[in-house]
Amino acid sequence: MIKVKLNGHDYRYELFQIISLFYNKNEIEFTDEYKCSFESTADLNELFVEFKIYEDDILTINEKVNITYDKKNIKNAIKITALRALKRYTGSNIPWGILVGIRPTKIVHECFKENLNNEEILNYLISNYELSFEKANLVLEVAKNESKFLTYNEKNISLYIDVPFCPTRCIYCSFTSTPVFGNEFLINGYIEAIQREIRETLRFLTAKGFNIDRIYIGGGTPTALSPYNLDKMFNELSNHIDLLRVKEITVEAGRPDSIDEEKLKVIKEYGCSRISINPQTMNDDTLKRIGRNHTSKDVIEKYILARNLGFNNINMDVIIGLLGETKKDVENTMKKIKTLSPESITIHTMAVKRASVLNERGYKNKNIETDDMYSIASDSCRSIGMYPYYMYRQKNMVSPLENVGYCKKDMECVYNIQMIAENISIAGIGPGAITKLLYIDENRIERVANVKDIREYISRIDEMIDKKIKALDTLF
Ligand code: SF4
Repeated sequence: MIKVKLNGHDYRYELFQIISLFYNKNEIEFTDEYKCSFESTADLNELFVEFKIYEDDILTINEKVNITYDKKNIKNAIKITALRALKRYTGSNIPWGILVGIRPTKIVHECFKENLNNEEILNYLISNYELSFEKANLVLEVAKNESKFLTYNEKNISLYIDVPFCPTRCIYCSFTSTPVFGNEFLINGYIEAIQREIRETLRFLTAKGFNIDRIYIGGGTPTALSPYNLDKMFNELSNHIDLLRVKEITVEAGRPDSIDEEKLKVIKEYGCSRISINPQTMNDDTLKRIGRNHTSKDVIEKYILARNLGFNNINMDVIIGLLGETKKDVENTMKKIKTLSPESITIHTMAVKRASVLNERGYKNKNIETDDMYSIASDSCRSIGMYPYYMYRQKNMVSPLENVGYCKKDMECVYNIQMIAENISIAGIGPGAITKLLYIDENRIERVANVKDIREYISRIDEMIDKKIKALDTLF
């Protein structure tokens, strides 16, 4: 057990986040006892913060920095001293420094407002957050690429629709995803509820003069629904807004085993402009291991089918750090995806989430090759002229990396950019969907969540709608 002692401050959570970059969370314990492994001190009289590491009661490492009375400065110093000491002690490389749970590009956009130049921004990221030069450059590049999409119009709002069904459940999945097979009755109830929620939400928004900017249909796997049910959902949308005038409609077709010609035709007819066909890996053994009921050949077939039906904006997701994968596997995946030439590729680093089967099985993957595999995937995207256009970081990744969307010129998914940058309000529809309300003058976001459980969502649909509309009514 690693015993951590705090003196003169109570930034326990922040310190826990930093220490857990180096050690398993369940090994970390906070203590008031005299004896400890790590000791973090904030001295507000002498104005310094230090982090000490003891080995058999002998002081081995001491990292100390001076502080001001500023709360933010003290908190940063507490994290930085811990990070520096633990990097020296363990020899680990933490490229994202103390940036945990913060959207990295938001910091750069603040720097843009202060008119800092490139060099000043890189210095700021490196000295204040201990980012590696490479990651600081990546954040700056993404922030520059996305900035042209971050204009704000209070009358614009986007829609997110959650479809919580999938063909089968992948073992790393932490979403509310229910297998379609055997749940037909539940799906019928869901469709009725979602039609109702779409109807009431859009009636309200259009009456209030909102413009539906972009629509993202995710989950789950929306194409796990039958063509008939997809038609019902889209038809409800089209009863209230002109879908052909919506700037971008993405459907996460996701799993190839959920896609067929009829479904693609339905969504295309209603104006879907972008789909995702997500292989995650093009290695059949891995696909079996992660519980996906399809092969890499299915991915290729469904991709060609979509192309032939006229889909000219296709994204493909890959995951780095999947069970048992090596650099060779990632090379193979990227080679095959490059041959298909999608408009965008999103590289995810695998995260072991609490609600996943993997976590239940106690899976702890500290794959030393993950960083290299990640570089293979991103270099591969750049080699076909793609550039990074949005990014986010998650907790519990198998390696402290990032998720980045790469795209060909002008093929950005703007919904993704705006959702991560939180510069537009989003009305969430469906079980577990979150409505995000942006109060730009107050630099504040409020969240209103629907219940996750599908049965509860169906039985409490009126309450969900009511709560959301009241919240949306506070926007302007
Ligand atoms: S396809 Fe996605 S949502 Fe569905 S089970 Fe797999 S990880 Fe979960």
